[in-house]
Amino acid sequence: TRGLADADPAVFGGVRQELSREQNQIELIASENIVSRAVLEAQGSVFTNKYAEGYPGKRYYQGCAPSDVVETLAIERAKQLFNCGFANVQPHSGAQANGAVMLALTKPGDTIMGLSLDAGGHLTHGAKAALSGKWYNAVQYGVRRDDHLIDFDQVEALAREHQPKLIIAGGSAYPRHIDFARFRAIADEVGAYFMVDMAHFAGLVAGGVHPTPFGHAHVVTTTTHKTLRGPRGGMVLTDDEAIAKKINSAVFPGLQGGPLMHVIAAKAVAFGEALQPEFKSYAKAVVENAKVLAARLKERGAEIVSGGTDTHLALVDLTPLGVTGRDADEALERSSITCNKNGIPFDPLPPVKTSGIRVGTPAGTTRGFGPAEFREIADMIADVLEGLRTKGEHGDPAVEAAVKARVEALCARFPIYPAQ
Ligand code: PLP
Repeated sequence: TRGLADADPAVFGGVRQELSREQNQIELIASENIVSRAVLEAQGSVFTNKYAEGYPGKRYYQGCAPSDVVETLAIERAKQLFNCGFANVQPHSGAQANGAVMLALTKPGDTIMGLSLDAGGHLTHGAKAALSGKWYNAVQYGVRRDDHLIDFDQVEALAREHQPKLIIAGGSAYPRHIDFARFRAIADEVGAYFMVDMAHFAGLVAGGVHPTPFGHAHVVTTTTHKTLRGPRGGMVLTDDEAIAKKINSAVFPGLQGGPLMHVIAAKAVAFGEALQPEFKSYAKAVVENAKVLAARLKERGAEIVSGGTDTHLALVDLTPLGVTGRDADEALERSSITCNKNGIPFDPLPPVKTSGIRVGTPAGTTRGFGPAEFREIADMIADVLEGLRTKGEHGDPAVEAAVKARVEALCARFPIYPAQ
């Protein structure tokens, strides 16, 4: 019964290091967040020991009554949160949730359509390197060159030409609202299922600051750890009973074995938190902060893909500054600001270099940063980028050291996970 520090100092050291990193760096990775202690506690609970194959009330193992309690809470809260009729909370990740939909509604070799990776789509939406691109005839649509918005003329033309079985909307680096109704009309015209992967913006839908895909999509998938601020995991939602049945069989026994009951317990906690009125204010602040961050970066000379953002993230085109995404994310990490390099639409540079970075506000907003702080963060980013522009790919050490000190001072004013 020794604790981690005694039992395994090496791993404990890694955990301490990660805690300190999260406490003292500014987290701008758009797909990350900072969960509550309650979520951490549920995920670190004894449910990690339990096998509970099946669903509440219909398990293949004995001893599942407590598992039924937490899984039912997670399901009911998810349904309430998104105002929908069905939730499967068992997918181990977002990729598994998308895989389950494909298994439920399509066959290998079928045609599927999704947003291309270089226009902000996700690997699981038909990218060549992924299972969805290898086992399916994956047709990819993109964004328009002039305004970086989804090219619906192309979506329509491709759908008519290829007659897909499944059309997917959603992405990892698309900063604008998506016209779900228009997608559904196209899907109906060609007889396709329409799936929305709301992984990135689920928390904004839950918080009422983003249009909901329900009423348009046949099926909705999400991760639970991004704007939704839960444990790492996935979920599938729908209002269609026939699809719901297929999804349950596709997740288990189709794709997965035993559910991760400790993660499902943590999902229940996170959904409970997202049902509180405070979560609405949080979601509103996430979007307001992203607008401030994007606008200030633009004032300081960067281009913002699509001209701005409607969501929690902005895609920053560094071309006008003569800086690559790779040099930028490395220099920013040296300055204690964490983000990721990201291709921009029609990027002339390869994915290992890129012309852009993706920045997001979910984690910073959770720790209490508001518009003033995000304006300051934009200025710090711009200072570091200016160092790269003037001094070359290794940046300006003096500027980076000064920014690091400013970051640490800001983080100290908005502490996370204080020692109890
Ligand atoms: N779908 C979208 C839109 C995503 O952005 C991601 C993750 O980045 C996923 C699915 C996959 O989620 P996971 O990493 O949990 O498999």
